[in-house]
Amino acid sequence: MEWCLKQPKIELHAHLNGSARDSTLLELARGLGERGVVDFATIESVIRKNDRSLVECFKLFDLIRILTTDHAAITRITREVIEDFASENVVYLELRTTPKKNEAIGMSKRSYIQAVLDGLRSVDAVDVDFIPSNVNKANSKKTLSINDNGVTKTKIFVRLLLSIDRQETGEAAMETVKLALEMKDLGVVGIDLSGNPAVGEWDTFLPALNFARAHELPIVLHCGELPDRLEEVQEMLNFYPQRIGHAIFLDDEQWRLLKLSKIPVEICLTSNVHTGCVTTIDDHHFIDLYKSKHPLLCAPTILGCSRPAFLANIILHPQHSVLEGKKCLRWERLQLTTYLQMKE
Ligand code: IMP
Repeated sequence: MEWCLKQPKIELHAHLNGSARDSTLLELARGLGERGVVDFATIESVIRKNDRSLVECFKLFDLIRILTTDHAAITRITREVIEDFASENVVYLELRTTPKKNEAIGMSKRSYIQAVLDGLRSVDAVDVDFIPSNVNKANSKKTLSINDNGVTKTKIFVRLLLSIDRQETGEAAMETVKLALEMKDLGVVGIDLSGNPAVGEWDTFLPALNFARAHELPIVLHCGELPDRLEEVQEMLNFYPQRIGHAIFLDDEQWRLLKLSKIPVEICLTSNVHTGCVTTIDDHHFIDLYKSKHPLLCAPTILGCSRPAFLANIILHPQHSVLEGKKCLRWERLQLTTYLQMKE
C-alpha cells in the first residue's frame, strides 16, 4: 500500500463534495446544528457510517448539499480536497462538481464555480496548475514553486468537469453547459452527468448534452448504476460519450456493444463494492473489461482496496489503455500530454 501511495497517479473520477473530509463535514454540521438549521446528531450518524448502500449514499449527498452550498465552504473543501489528493501523490486530478444555486445567500452556478476556483488559488501546500497552457495565466495564482525551506513544491495539475445533476431541469442542465463553455479558459474541460440514478430521465438532459457536443465539450456519463435502467444505458451507448462511469448493469448485448465501441470506462471498484452494487472485487466487471483490453480508468477509491499492486498498474499506466481506443484520443490526449509534460 505504501508503494501504491508513493506512485504518481492520475485521478479522473472525483466528485468534489464526495471527496470532502469527514472532519470538515462534521465541523460544518456542528455549526449549522448550533444555529438550528440541521439536526447535528442525525447528520453525524450518517457521516460516520462506513459502508453505505447506494440509497444511503444519496441521502448523505443530500445532507452534504445542505452543509456545503455556501461560498466559503466550497472554497475550503476545494482546497482540502486538492491537498488530500496531492498528499496521496495524485499528479493530475480531474475534479467534477455540480454548480449549485442558493438564492438565500446570493449563490449562482457561476459564483459557485468561482468559489471552487478561489479554492484552487488558495492552496499553499502544493503548486496547483489549473489554467490550460494555451491560455494567458494572468488569472492563475502566481505560485512559488519553492517553499520556505528551499524545497521545490510538489505540483498537481487540476482540471474541472461541471456536473449536471439528474435532479435538475433541462434548463438548469443547459445553464451548466453554457457556463462550462465560458469557463474553458479557467480549466473546465468537460461535462459530467451524475446524481441519483433512480431520478431523472435521459431525454431531459439530451438537449444540453447535444449542445455541449456541438461545441466540442467532452462528455462523461454515469451509466448503468441500477439494474432497471437498461433502456437508458442503450441511449447512453448510442450517444457515444467520451467516457462512461461505473457501467455495472448492462445486458449481454450492451456489454458486446460497449466493448465494440471502446468507450473508456471509469472503474469505481471500491465504491461499487461498498455500495453493494457489486458483491466483491472478484465479481467486478473490471476483470472482464481488463481482460478484453477495454480502455479503463480507475477511481482513487482503489486505494482502499485489497489488491493495490494489481490495480496500481492501471492507475499508473492509463495511457496504455487510453491509446487503444481511437475515440478517446481526442480528450485523453490532453491528459496524457499534461502528464508527460510534467515528467520533463
Ligand atoms: P458535487 O457535485 O461536488 O456536489 O459532488 C457530490 C455529487 O456527486 C452528489 O450529490 C452526486 O450528485 C454526485 N455523485 C457522487 N457519487 C456518485 C455516484 O456514485 N453516482 C452518481 N452520482 C454521484
